[in-house]
Amino acid sequence: MWTHNKTRKLLVGGIAIGGGSPITVQSMTNTDTKDVEATVRQILAFEKEGCDLSRSAINSLEDAKAIPEIKTRTHIPFITDIQFDPDLAMYAIEYGTDGLRINPGNIGSKKDLERIVKACRDKSIPIRVGVNSGSVHKSMIDKYHGVNEDSLVYSALEEVKAIENLGYDQVAVSIKSSDVGTMIRANQLFAQVSSCPLHLGVTEAGPPFAGTIKSSVGLGVLLHQGIGDTIRVSITGDPVQEVTIGMEILKSLGLRQWGPNLVSCPTCARTKVDLIGLAEKVDKGLKGMDRNITVAVMGCPVNGPGEAREADIGIACNKGAGVLFRKGKVLRQVPEEKLLDALFEEIERMDHES
Ligand code: SF4
Repeated sequence: MWTHNKTRKLLVGGIAIGGGSPITVQSMTNTDTKDVEATVRQILAFEKEGCDLSRSAINSLEDAKAIPEIKTRTHIPFITDIQFDPDLAMYAIEYGTDGLRINPGNIGSKKDLERIVKACRDKSIPIRVGVNSGSVHKSMIDKYHGVNEDSLVYSALEEVKAIENLGYDQVAVSIKSSDVGTMIRANQLFAQVSSCPLHLGVTEAGPPFAGTIKSSVGLGVLLHQGIGDTIRVSITGDPVQEVTIGMEILKSLGLRQWGPNLVSCPTCARTKVDLIGLAEKVDKGLKGMDRNITVAVMGCPVNGPGEAREADIGIACNKGAGVLFRKGKVLRQVPEEKLLDALFEEIERMDHES
């Protein structure tokens, strides 16, 4: 794995982004922001899945006025997403947003951008700018002959420059595309020419199944190359799931540890127990556990014991039974119908002992 690219460090409500800080996971609420109960409920659900930062669209003064109460009742930074209306950006800043997501190109006049940047500078609020395939600057499309990685990157650099020219460098950038290859190439190019922290995402990735795959491929390639400081998985579905997927992507690359890691085999003709059912129940039982443990659920005595031994706790099944392992040591043989309980009793025992 390449080392993590050193970008400029930003602080969003106390959470560091860039400069070699741990890679953070974000999601975006889809509630009516001014519906404080619903918005708080969703952000708390994000938190439970390990989310580091939450973003909400602010579409009215009422939305902005809800920010203080939402912040009081939640524990992760609140980022405001604004399109077109500079006054709403000013209200969000006034009501305590921790970060701002704007497009300098559509937020109003030069004077409007100046007052927003000044207000952010006064309160040390970082700004994220971004480009996606639908918002590439016309001049760049002409110059680079269409929407491609060059026109995306040079549009993003223009957005950064618009803010840096006003004397503020607390800027993060996102360059998104629904085409995974374009998104990868554009972020690789941007990382070569700028030290701005990168917010990664495959935009409009689709329903959960396809969206998870596209996001895992796009984000995975870049993160493995040390590119990217914060991520958001976008799926057409429950935004809480975006956090779960984002965390799994980071966990799979060893970039974050969050809760249990379940290793289970795909099953084959050697499997002589209901391993799929068992693994599903174990997965369910591990949900919400904040302990960083690796649990293995394996189907046979051929490959099972090896994986089960590597895990903190594991089961290697045989016909109608399984062997329980803990930290590489065989504990005992357990009948199939008692395996689930035995596994969780052992995890509980580990909790009490640690
Ligand atoms: Fe088959 Fe055993 Fe491998 Fe599971 S661990 S897939 S049962 S060989």
